[in-house]
Amino acid sequence: MQPQKNIEHIRVSIPEYRHTKIVATLGPASADKKILREMMSAGMDIARLNLSHGSFEDHQQLVEMIREVSEEIRKHIAILADVPGQKIRITYLADTRVQFQSGDIITLTTVPPDGEPLTQTNSTASSHIIGIGPADYLADIYPNDTVILKDGAVTLSIQAVDEVGMQAVVTRGGVLTLGAGVIFPNKKRVIPFINHHFSTACLFAASLQPDYLALSFVESGEDIIAARTFLQDNHYNIPLIAKIESSTAVSHAEDIMAYVDGVMVARGDLGVAMPLEQIPHIQKQLIEKAVEREIPVITATEMLESMVQKNLPTRAEVTDVANAIIDGTDCVMLSAETSIGVDPVQAVHVMATISSETDKHIPLNRASAQKTGYKPVSALVSHAARLIADMAAVSIVAYTRSGTTARMISHERPSVPIFVITPDDDIARRVLLYRGVFPSTRRAVETYEELITSARDLMNRTGIGRKGDYVVILAGNTKGETGHTNTIKIEQL
Ligand code: PEP
Repeated sequence: MQPQKNIEHIRVSIPEYRHTKIVATLGPASADKKILREMMSAGMDIARLNLSHGSFEDHQQLVEMIREVSEEIRKHIAILADVPGQKIRITYLADTRVQFQSGDIITLTTVPPDGEPLTQTNSTASSHIIGIGPADYLADIYPNDTVILKDGAVTLSIQAVDEVGMQAVVTRGGVLTLGAGVIFPNKKRVIPFINHHFSTACLFAASLQPDYLALSFVESGEDIIAARTFLQDNHYNIPLIAKIESSTAVSHAEDIMAYVDGVMVARGDLGVAMPLEQIPHIQKQLIEKAVEREIPVITATEMLESMVQKNLPTRAEVTDVANAIIDGTDCVMLSAETSIGVDPVQAVHVMATISSETDKHIPLNRASAQKTGYKPVSALVSHAARLIADMAAVSIVAYTRSGTTARMISHERPSVPIFVITPDDDIARRVLLYRGVFPSTRRAVETYEELITSARDLMNRTGIGRKGDYVVILAGNTKGETGHTNTIKIEQL
């Protein structure tokens, strides 16, 4: 019998097998069991806890709610805890809101939070003093350096640095408020990555036992090594996602990716640190590098921003989500849309609809077209499985203990869903970040016959396979060693 290419019915009629994964940030608008249940049903795959906001108890409760609801509806949901970085902020202004005009001369000085300015020049009126801190985060500052305040509402150019502070001229006027962020673009962090702020925030995040930890303001592979060692010293072994959100991180992206388990294109802070018009091509380069490195990549921030207030996105937002998917992202992320937005469920629904539709129009197997040279057997097997599946099968079914096989096949970007069978719930949640991967947990599979039976069973239950369809089944050493995938079986239903 000739293989029948029969994938169209999967792509069109089974949106739950959407290849692109959805990360939704939780917050006051979504901290509710009913809403969480609906968000999960609408397509949330990964729940993000943004630890910049809320108390320990809030996040602990959210974790319990997520685990409970996901158990109840029998859907794996991964938890991503986002460890905030220490930001330099405005700690003193003469008033809670101060207007600055272009050409104003101001003094920037370091001030403890809620404190009075430590120093004041005779020539500077108090309304022209801006206190910033913490002091130990301030890089070496020189004349002509640029300072960006409140996401670009006001910009300064440093004129002189002395023992009083920094004298600067306002190059873009606007209103500043207490607590707004301060950025010195192109400056490296001056204190070690593992500092008091990081340790406290990271241990708090790890204690929530998330499936992934996202690290803010990573600048190098060394930062990742230091974070992993710090976590191991504290008896945690949690996969790490590096948020790429500074120009230093962009220029060290390859080094960072060599050590991390996944990356996030954190366009919010990136768009402050770098000119906005550079974000689209940086996003494309980062996604391409992550796919090459075979690690998952999340594209984040302002994807459906107008849905913070409305229940429909703009054309530009829909196109932005679709373009990130066409670029090859594994996950698309919702932030304020689901944490403080008017309708978090609708935001997830819209994201899922755009993703399902766009999945249908992705050019086949771009990711590995240029593969050359030596590859381990497991990579060759994944590559061959993708070729066969794209030509003839309705799905790929793989058995994995560590998740490595799932990662390798996902990297191949097959056009069909990848069903992953694993005995371990932690691994099932971990592989949720990988594009096109749908995990299910079963007791350990001991023989190939058992795996084939499980694969047939999955095809029946999901309604994906019809009689006569082909399924590509991948297995390795069923005895528990990882990275030994060496068998392809083409099974006809
Ligand atoms: C971002 O900057 O885009 C981001 C996701 O990080 P945060 O939410 O910490 O600003």
